[in-house]
Amino acid sequence: MKTGIKKLLIANRGEICCRIIKTAKKMGIATVAVYSDADKNALHVKMADEAVNIGAAPSRESYLLGDKIIAVAKALRVDAIHPGYGFLSENAAFCRKCKENGIIFVGPPVKAIEAMGSKSAAKQIMQEAGVPLVPGYHGENQSPDFLKQQADEMGYPVLLKAAAGGGGKGMRQVHSEEEFFDALDAAKREAMSGFNDDIMLVEKYLTQPRHVEIQVFCDQHKNGVYLFERDCSVQRRHQKVIEEAPAPGITAELRQQMGEAGLKAAKAIDYEGAGTVEFLLEPNGEFFFMEMNTRLQVEHPVTEMITQEDLVEWQLRVASGEVIPKTQQQLTLKGHAFEARVYAEDPDNEFLPSTGKLRLLKPPLESENVRVDTGVLQGDEVSVFYDPMIAKLIVWDENREKALARMSKALAEYHVEGVRTNIDFLYNLATHPAFQNANLTTNFIEEHQDHLFVSRQHDLEPMLPVVSTYLMLKRHSKLQNKGVELQSPWQAGNNWRMNEVHEEILSFVIQNVEASVTVSIVGKLENNELQLLVQTSENEYSCQGQLVENSLLVNINGHRSKMTVVEHEQEYSLFTPEHAIKCRLLTPDLGIDDSDEHHAGFVAPMNGTVVGLMVELNQSVKKGQTLMIMEAMKMEHALKAPKDGVVTEFYYQSGDLVDGGAALLNFEANAAED
Ligand code: ADP
Repeated sequence: MKTGIKKLLIANRGEICCRIIKTAKKMGIATVAVYSDADKNALHVKMADEAVNIGAAPSRESYLLGDKIIAVAKALRVDAIHPGYGFLSENAAFCRKCKENGIIFVGPPVKAIEAMGSKSAAKQIMQEAGVPLVPGYHGENQSPDFLKQQADEMGYPVLLKAAAGGGGKGMRQVHSEEEFFDALDAAKREAMSGFNDDIMLVEKYLTQPRHVEIQVFCDQHKNGVYLFERDCSVQRRHQKVIEEAPAPGITAELRQQMGEAGLKAAKAIDYEGAGTVEFLLEPNGEFFFMEMNTRLQVEHPVTEMITQEDLVEWQLRVASGEVIPKTQQQLTLKGHAFEARVYAEDPDNEFLPSTGKLRLLKPPLESENVRVDTGVLQGDEVSVFYDPMIAKLIVWDENREKALARMSKALAEYHVEGVRTNIDFLYNLATHPAFQNANLTTNFIEEHQDHLFVSRQHDLEPMLPVVSTYLMLKRHSKLQNKGVELQSPWQAGNNWRMNEVHEEILSFVIQNVEASVTVSIVGKLENNELQLLVQTSENEYSCQGQLVENSLLVNINGHRSKMTVVEHEQEYSLFTPEHAIKCRLLTPDLGIDDSDEHHAGFVAPMNGTVVGLMVELNQSVKKGQTLMIMEAMKMEHALKAPKDGVVTEFYYQSGDLVDGGAALLNFEANAAED
């Protein structure tokens, strides 16, 4: 299986670097990883045969340092560099320098990258090649009045797009003439700050399109094939969320037409390697060229699943001069595949990235049908420096319905703790009837937002005895550590009477919903095992439970089970085979002063900057008073006093950078309180 490439450097990180290493290993190619200070223990570093530190955490001081990476490649006698996606993958200067240094760039020729680098230049080339374009203006005249005139003639709505744009930035919809100039200013500002270039194109805004893209492959011998299409219509803010292949409802005839148009686009720029030609597909079957991505796409695995080809292997073969492994006729399409992008982000907070330690990372089991492409391990940090993707979850089955059922199941089995994730959101998407019926357009998320942004609905009743048992055990072990007996009247909270079985109301939050049950302790066995009677409004449960390290052993009405528990700042997640139960105690904790947890809450919620110390040291502060303000992810977070007291020490000053989880200050509550 050996190609001319014997040693490969991957100029990237995370899941894509790991994914490339896997194929290289399979082909007997030695691998070199590069890494930043933040990634010294990362999975991609562990997987590679050799790894070299190339600088500090910010990308521009490491993963974007083309010259440094080339120097490493030369020093280690590397034959080729694979740029992955993002970072240097579409950087023509880097591609040129690789070639000047005698290193194979696993990607297209410099000229092809340059030709597709500008959306307007790309449209010009495609127009000449006879590829259908979204109607619009992509010329050089950038006078605002002229651009508006173009928009007026085209008719509203229109879309303003930055020629140098990417990742959905520098785009603005304009719905009427009156909005035009303001929208143009805003789009130009965004383009200038993002890409240092504010050249704009104006396009007719299509209101119900699908995003359908063609995977093309070309070699150095003028052969080219298309590996069918992917539907990436489900997007948020013009970024893909779930992709699938093939595109549902597409006829063989349209598939061929789009495939050939994609290939025509690639041939127009003498393309080599893997490329993607993006089209907008209208409900009437008309399709228009949008842009060409001159790299391997994030969503390439869905194509791999339905063609049973390894696209990275193809890239490495083609880059070393071989012909494409298969002809168009030899390529077949089998079954259906989905990819969901699992992110550390908060869908309820405008998809803000969520950073922190992955305290628990339990992906679904991989099989022939389920593939998890990831670059992180449990215990790793999702940092502010890079894209907060945790993994790509890819599933395959013989048809769309079965594949989608697999996707929902796999999402239900995906457990992550420590950061917020979009897993529930993806689950809601995958199980939404409109998605199941393949009613796809790029407005899907907006149109169905009412159903997508709710936490997963669960039947809470069966979880109540489990959670009650757990919380009682937790409290019991805490009290024991303090040398207090649980049934002592002096420590009991409410409703305690002499000579009665101690019965109390236990209130807690479960899956974001408040709930109360009545609990009585029936007995205590050896090994700190508790026997309880739990009454909900519907049922009575006889429960037995025991904590063993990080697990809970419970027996509810004779049904035994074991679940892993993860604890974070008094919030608990109990993992059953089906889902995670999140809970938090509401009943006051019997007035126990947990002095070892005294500083809980005074830790940085994520990486950020201290912007203000709001009180003096040793100054008396009232409960609820703001002690310190931190800024993270462009938002301010106030740290407030939990009780009356004093701050005896600030561990950071204004302007200091802090890591998520770091203790920020020392607070002492007034002794007289309670
Ligand atoms: P970027 O390079 O920033 O990703 P694209 O040109 O690829 O920008 O467009 C991203 C997304 O924006 C598309 O997938 C589509 O959803 C939407 N879009 C782009 N052009 C149009 C258009 N003319 N009409 C409607 N939607 C569009």
